[in-house]
Amino acid sequence: MFALEISDLYKTYSSGLEALKGISLTVERGDFFALLGPNGAGKSTCIGIISGLVNKTSGNVNIFGHSIDNDFIVAKSLLGSVPQEFNFNTFEPVEEIIINQAGFYGVPARRARVETEHYLKQLNLWEHRRSQARRLSGGMKRRLMIARALIHKPKLLILDEPTAGVDIELRRTMWDFLEQINEQGTTIILTTHYLEEAERMCRNIAIIDEGNIILNSSMNHLLKQLNSETFVLYLRNELDQVPCLPSFDNVVKLDQQSIEVEVPDRLSINDLIHELESLGIIVERMRNKVNRLEEMFVKMTSKTEKRGLG
Ligand code: ADP
Repeated sequence: MFALEISDLYKTYSSGLEALKGISLTVERGDFFALLGPNGAGKSTCIGIISGLVNKTSGNVNIFGHSIDNDFIVAKSLLGSVPQEFNFNTFEPVEEIIINQAGFYGVPARRARVETEHYLKQLNLWEHRRSQARRLSGGMKRRLMIARALIHKPKLLILDEPTAGVDIELRRTMWDFLEQINEQGTTIILTTHYLEEAERMCRNIAIIDEGNIILNSSMNHLLKQLNSETFVLYLRNELDQVPCLPSFDNVVKLDQQSIEVEVPDRLSINDLIHELESLGIIVERMRNKVNRLEEMFVKMTSKTEKRGLG
């Protein structure tokens, strides 16, 4: 049984806009799954439908085998959802927001207090427990949403852009926390714009573009499909012009002492260094230009535009 099974899911908003055009998707139990795609692709609509915040036009969604149509209460009890918008009462104290949520899910009061303390401490919010939510920073509010989503111990946690607007330090803490609860058995699905983090954290991935799923695979498989990698090279020599490297495409001079080169899979970085040496150019340092997933993503979505899909 899958943690999530979506089949033929369509959503047409009342404006006539077709946000989802019949997507199908499965997510394994225990997975750490990324739903990626450019702005307006349909990610939030999809998550909204799974969470019961958006009405679907047609299609089926099952959470651990329970249909959101026929078995809504059980399906909902298995799900924790963190939407992009802050949707708590900002005048309520932090602690109360979570305890009230526990009440909605029938968590006994005593256990709710213990769990609230546990999650607020884990998410570094404990000292703010008596503050009104509106006093919290953006990152704190995001963590409050996560704590609230976890209070009834859902088996599937869905997060829409959980690290949006969260600074780097905090993002790392949040990822560590999510990794930990995933290891403890919670299936996690998230959307993110931080592809580098998705590459590092997620085992499986789907890319959605203009309401269609254009790719669904394991992260490893996806990254293996990339047939080139772009490097930035810092040189000892000062260059007057772009060096002529016949074996390599897309050689770009960034400034007097750095260039960017795309290295195809059939060649190695050593080939590049030797070719530069033969021109008397010495490489001092180098780094990957962008992470590979980002590169893949840009290529895939522009390919889609060219093919006129969606
Ligand atoms: P993403 O999360 O990938 O950025 P969304 O699911 O938010 O994409 O949006 C998909 C498309 O649906 C976009 O074109 C968006 O403008 C449109 N859309 C989203 N919500 C609504 C709504 N409530 N009414 C009409 N159109 C909407």
